[in-house]
Amino acid sequence: MKSFELHDAATVQEAVALLAKFGPSAKILAGGSDLVTGVMKDWVHGKGMPIPEKLIDVTTIPEMVGINIAANGNATIGAATTLTSIAESSELDKKWSVFTQSAASVASPLIRNFGTLGGNINQRPRCWFLRGEHFDCYKKGGDFCFAVTGDNRYHAIIGGELCYIVHPSDTASALLALNASATIAGPGGTRNVPFDNYFTGPREDVLRENVLKSDELLVNVSIPQLAPNTKTAWFKLKDRQVYDFALVSVAAVVTQENGVWKDGRIILGGVSPVPYRAKVVEQALAGKNIKDNIKAAAAAIRTVARPMSLNAYKVDIVIGLIERVVMSTIA
Ligand SMILES: Cc1cc2nc3c(=O)[nH]c(=O)nc-3n(C[C@H](O)[C@H](O)[C@H](O)COP(=O)(O)OP(=O)(O)OC[C@H]3O[C@@H](n4cnc5c(N)ncnc54)[C@H](O)[C@@H]3O)c2cc1C
Ligand code: SF4
Repeated sequence: MKSFELHDAATVQEAVALLAKFGPSAKILAGGSDLVTGVMKDWVHGKGMPIPEKLIDVTTIPEMVGINIAANGNATIGAATTLTSIAESSELDKKWSVFTQSAASVASPLIRNFGTLGGNINQRPRCWFLRGEHFDCYKKGGDFCFAVTGDNRYHAIIGGELCYIVHPSDTASALLALNASATIAGPGGTRNVPFDNYFTGPREDVLRENVLKSDELLVNVSIPQLAPNTKTAWFKLKDRQVYDFALVSVAAVVTQENGVWKDGRIILGGVSPVPYRAKVVEQALAGKNIKDNIKAAAAAIRTVARPMSLNAYKVDIVIGLIERVVMSTIA
């Protein structure tokens, strides 16, 4: 691994100033479980993915660590809060269990102890060609996607174009389902971005996965109160029982009255370059009895799925899991 300079920021303003001073050669460092142990390995780079030379630690910024429930019932979670703190928060779990469960399903206890929310949301994709030495693919600034002709069993089945990664973050899906938003800091101050608009696909810019500019960082995440008669649910299917990324995950937030769908969000992980909102399923359930219509509604995912040569199996899994997760919110 190449050596790097480490800068401990004491405030958000200091971190932003360091990013602006060093430019694209600098990266935000949180737990380091992806950045230092994965992305900074000497072989994971290309002309569009240079190895960072300076790391700016944000776990040293007190305002970025911790969980706060405001008097209005909304929650704010600092981006440098560990995944263990989130998974073990009874206050969060009481209202937003889809979020605590998604955090608890990330990696292993050891990684959750130092891995942070901001790092989980902003981690780079896991495509094995991207992380392999000999593949100078689009995402590294090359001119080919090796997943198109290679082993694509874990790649995208929806919304892949140019690049077929699946977004790796478990907490991102839960946050989208909860209609949460991000506070982003940059040289011009802070801005608030709903997670609906936070993640970007390959067509927008194949070299990145979200709206953060090189001189910006994620400061915290806000989750609004749930509407009355709303329940949440989470399920993550993995290839193996020990820690692993999602083959497919479903995060659901459902508002119902006497079993009829009033409102809700169904977000799929492991299937698309961004956490994918299954609007076709939501629309098929709108105003209808959930139990009577869930089978046909879940199957509507076939109308948007475009599987690759080796991953059509994921379509059937998604349909089965949507049904199971949505039904668990009315049980
Ligand atoms: C063995 C293993 C298994 C894993 N399994 C899973 C899994 O099942 N599910 C899952 O979701 N993830 C999984 N991960 C990924 C893991 O969750 C992330 O690596 C971890 O959550 C990242 O947190 P971190 O604080 O260590 O991030 P870091 O490694 O420090 O940072 C990750 C990226 O986010 C950026 N970043 C960090 N904080 C901020 C911020 N505040 N603002 C802007 N950018 C920021 C960094 O610049 C970097 O690019 C796994 C990782 C490993 C190593
Ligand atoms: S899916 Fe994306 S990251 Fe993977 S090889 Fe293709 S372009 Fe590269």
